Amino acid sequence: MRAPVIATGSNSKGDLRAWLAQLVGEGRLAVATENLSLRHELAAVAKRLEREQAVLFPKPDGHAVAVVANLLADRSWVADAIGVPERELLSRFEHAARHPLPCVEVTDAPVQAVVHRKPDLTKILPIPVHNELDSGPYITAGLMIARNPRTGVQNVSIHRCQVSGPDRIGVLLLPRHTQAYYRMAEEAGDGLEIALVVGVHPIYLLASQAIAALDEDEMGIAGALLGRPVDVVKCKTNNVRVPADAEIVIEGRILPKVRELEGPFGEFPQYYGNRAEREVIAVDAITHRENPIFHTITGGGYEHLILGAVPREATLLQHLKRSFPNVLDVRLTRGGTCRYHLAIKIDKRSDGEPKNIIMGAFAGHYDVKQVVVVDRDVDISDSVEIEWAVATRFQADRDLVLVAGAQGSRLDPSAANGISAKLGFDATVPLTKDASAFKRIHVPGEESVDLAAVLQADSKETLVKLLGA
Ligand code: MN
Repeated sequence: MRAPVIATGSNSKGDLRAWLAQLVGEGRLAVATENLSLRHELAAVAKRLEREQAVLFPKPDGHAVAVVANLLADRSWVADAIGVPERELLSRFEHAARHPLPCVEVTDAPVQAVVHRKPDLTKILPIPVHNELDSGPYITAGLMIARNPRTGVQNVSIHRCQVSGPDRIGVLLLPRHTQAYYRMAEEAGDGLEIALVVGVHPIYLLASQAIAALDEDEMGIAGALLGRPVDVVKCKTNNVRVPADAEIVIEGRILPKVRELEGPFGEFPQYYGNRAEREVIAVDAITHRENPIFHTITGGGYEHLILGAVPREATLLQHLKRSFPNVLDVRLTRGGTCRYHLAIKIDKRSDGEPKNIIMGAFAGHYDVKQVVVVDRDVDISDSVEIEWAVATRFQADRDLVLVAGAQGSRLDPSAANGISAKLGFDATVPLTKDASAFKRIHVPGEESVDLAAVLQADSKETLVKLLGA
């Protein structure tokens, strides 16, 4: 096969190549030498570059299919992918989540240019091994698309997928929508038809991470973010509809009543998810573009974290605003693995309300473990500011919310198989207090100083005079 063609131009096409072309234009895409090893070496290079550049790996281990990593290396890249300034990121995503565009079905799709029936995925695809103790190669950037067996409504999510054999994948299903659909199928004695879609514009990956309700198709959110409905095509061996302009689609079924060992795998909390009996996908077909590109996400790397942040923030904000209109902004902090610790900025109107908001946030997603509520003068994108608000506006005997034995994240090693305590901090200024006690210090003019105008360009002579040096 030839090297993949990356056309230059705008991202209006909304596929992986359009995004890579945009990155090329901005000097954000590095290219590795050929023949880097799929076992750890590729992930090591991606990890070193994770906050700086995307990286394309031609011929990894001599494989004809190239691999790409680090599609999102900064929060500002997420804004660029969606095509808005960073300050409008959450409101744009929130709007898309509220106004999804239904998909449009097509019959002719680039992703079905090549069709392999009864495929050996270990030969067709270059699948990397990422972290040290991972059980083996994992497909980490696959959108899992499943259909509600009763209604046909589709769900889009991302799961870690262990390559267990030439046509077998071990998969971790956490207690959300894919698992709900699988349980419906399994109770009826059936497998669940699925597709794993690899190699898409980051908008699709972001949309898949929205905290949507059951039977809200995340692909509609992708369409709203793209500004046009997503073209989808029916899979060759089942009824799942997949984006027509993806690079690669793995078609298969999650088998009923079958469990096999999966894990360990390096996860977003920076620990290994354990090895246990998990659901199994039987692969029926692989389709792909001519000269496809395989996308991989390093488990626990920055791309993994940031993908979980913005979409969850936007949908948690939407959820909170429904009950609390004076909630202004939210952040899932990086130290909280972009999943567990939530900072909420409010325009406080009444004492007591921050505690209601804390409880509302716990209800927004079971992963949320710690919530800090702050006033509007605190910059919640800065962990130092959040800690400062706790240090100076919070008293544990008065402002703490503690809930024992709630549902939490199974990937949090301090939780007991997903049973977790919840912690809330009201770090807002009490409205009844004398405002002058909380008047923030400020040096007038600090922001508007023109350093070029007030500093000497050549200070040597002055220093000799003053210091005698
Ligand atoms: Mn869903």
